[in-house]
Amino acid sequence: MKFGGTSVANIERIRNVAGHVRREVDAGHEIAVVVSAMSGKTNELVSWVKEAACGTRNGPVYDQREYDTVVASGEQVTSGLLALVLQNEGLAARSWQGWQLPVSTDGAHGAARIAAIDGSAIVKAFEERREIAVVSGFQGIEPLTGRISTLGRGGSDTSAVALAAAIRADRCDIYTDVDGVYTTDPRVVPKARRLDRIAFEEMLEMASLGAKVLQVRSVELAMNHKIKTYVRSSFDDPANPKPGTLICDEEDIVEQEMVTGIAFSKDEAQITLRRVADKPGVAAAIFTPLADANINVDMIIQVVSDDQLTTDITFTVPAGEYERAMVILEKARDTIGYARIAGADDVVKVSVVGVGMRSHAGVAASAFRALAQRGINIRAITTSEIKFSVLIDAAYTELAVRTLHSLYGLDKS
Ligand code: ASP
Ligand code: MG
Repeated sequence: MKFGGTSVANIERIRNVAGHVRREVDAGHEIAVVVSAMSGKTNELVSWVKEAACGTRNGPVYDQREYDTVVASGEQVTSGLLALVLQNEGLAARSWQGWQLPVSTDGAHGAARIAAIDGSAIVKAFEERREIAVVSGFQGIEPLTGRISTLGRGGSDTSAVALAAAIRADRCDIYTDVDGVYTTDPRVVPKARRLDRIAFEEMLEMASLGAKVLQVRSVELAMNHKIKTYVRSSFDDPANPKPGTLICDEEDIVEQEMVTGIAFSKDEAQITLRRVADKPGVAAAIFTPLADANINVDMIIQVVSDDQLTTDITFTVPAGEYERAMVILEKARDTIGYARIAGADDVVKVSVVGVGMRSHAGVAASAFRALAQRGINIRAITTSEIKFSVLIDAAYTELAVRTLHSLYGLDKS
């Protein structure tokens, strides 16, 4: 069972979490719990790190190992508090920090990857004392240096799925402040529906494309280890919980729709290079310096030239990297050789996801027609086996998402 920040936001909420844990214990299960920090806590810790490091010789660049030491503390607090509340209710429980199990990670401080989890102490404690393990999410230890590491923002989802795999759990229930995964963001489309089931691959796309319910890595792990993962609400009455959404194998979904969900991300920026030479090596000249600077390029469009001499190339980068990408490309102007550079960061990427697309033609074409009828211009398109994405002006986000949501019959009746 994993509980996110809003589910452990204060002692009263932590008591409610204990109610969910007790219900599962009473049903005969052995439970390991993974907790996040109280909501807002990690942001506060990050801001303290920045404040403390600012004004040093390094400027905004600071020691990531100390960042991890500070930000990992939020989970230490909630794990101890939940163990105390459980004990107070007469249940055997203890907290575990990442370094105690241990949860071993690589050395990429601030965004570490889990290498291994030793769950044996937890399993032994179930067997010997029926003791509930309360594990701090988000954190681990880099075994070579012995330093505390963290898994990147939202990382406690990944802690939970990885722990479930390590102890061969029957299920991983991720409790959050929504009651499941929706066809799209219900704040934008009030007619969005909760999905009973979604395939691992679809969830992976939805999470990568901007749906914020789960950290992308946690979905990858669940898919690779085939961990049955439920997303459900901790705000339900513990005595009367709702089922939430099951993330599972495609084969376990009986009535597969053509389209499962619509994701959108405002975190995009578009860059266009005009009149680039149309010859071998030009794409490499553009994208190598961006890759070297760790800037992720997503959609790429190269126009066929009519004069066979020059062409235009358009692509997208994360909005947070937009300025940096522009500077890099301006510096590389002589090696790339282009006439003009233009960009826009008031764009949004809207994506339609569904494993049903593999076996149906024309899914994207109908979207293009529907958007055209609404006067929405498409700036760029990408497709893959189970999704397609369009880049449009951010002003049309709601209209586009609502249009596509009804087009594919996702509106709740
Ligand atoms: N507390 C961490 C964060 O806010 C990890 C998590 O909640 O998943 O990013
Ligand atoms: Mg989260």
